[in-house]
Amino acid sequence: MFKAMVEAFKNLFKPVRTINYPAQEISLPNGYRGLIEHDHEACIYCDKCEKVCPPGAILFYQHEEGGKEYHYNPWLCIYCGECVRACPKPDEALWQSETKQQSGVKEDGVNEGWFVWEEACKESREAYAAAKKERKPKMKSEEPLCVS
Ligand code: SF4
Ligand code: SF4
Repeated sequence: MFKAMVEAFKNLFKPVRTINYPAQEISLPNGYRGLIEHDHEACIYCDKCEKVCPPGAILFYQHEEGGKEYHYNPWLCIYCGECVRACPKPDEALWQSETKQQSGVKEDGVNEGWFVWEEACKESREAYAAAKKERKPKMKSEEPLCVS
């Protein structure tokens, strides 16, 4: 007990090691990896980011008419940067922001409906693939023979 009190007393005269964030400004370390940012105009919708994402924090919804919709879950993201590394257009279509207040910018409600989105995206692709197959012209061998 006495030893602990001496230690506590000594600590009163040591410099403070913690930062009063967010009241006090912090500097970001080199290689800081923030939230994932996406630019739908620069994106070529190749799906590479979705394929490499370990926790499945990126999803693409496939529209019937051909366009895709990007979805990102900042609550699921582990900020590994794999998606940016896989992207053929890093810094243009996909990049990691340098925002410091990640919890403050996470969208409300994204996580709650994520599993519904997962299912919807999967179904949208299956439906698109099936429709595409249907539209494919029949192979020559499948065409009926013409008898004159
Ligand atoms: S940083 Fe990692 S976890 Fe987050 S979206 Fe990219 S690949 Fe997925
Ligand atoms: S990897 Fe890049 S270009 Fe491809 S879909 Fe993802 S953000 Fe778009």
